[in-house]
Amino acid sequence: MTTDSEPPRCEIEGCNDRASFELHIPWKENELVCAGHARVKGRQEGIVADALANATDEFPNGAAKR
Ligand SMILES: [Zn+2]
Repeated sequence: MTTDSEPPRCEIEGCNDRASFELHIPWKENELVCAGHARVKGRQEGIVADALANATDEFPNGAAKR
């Protein structure tokens, strides 16, 4: 049984926001990013932004809604 007390942090260097999205990037490993970075990076072709379970922010444009 796992309890996540520590929320994931945005993996972009210099950014310490809470990660709310997982980016699925075809040419490299997935990245956990904050909503702001998901919005920016999610515009690149091929990248799919997936909201994490703990996401409270709104979906960025183009994010997959489930
Ligand atoms: Zn960020």
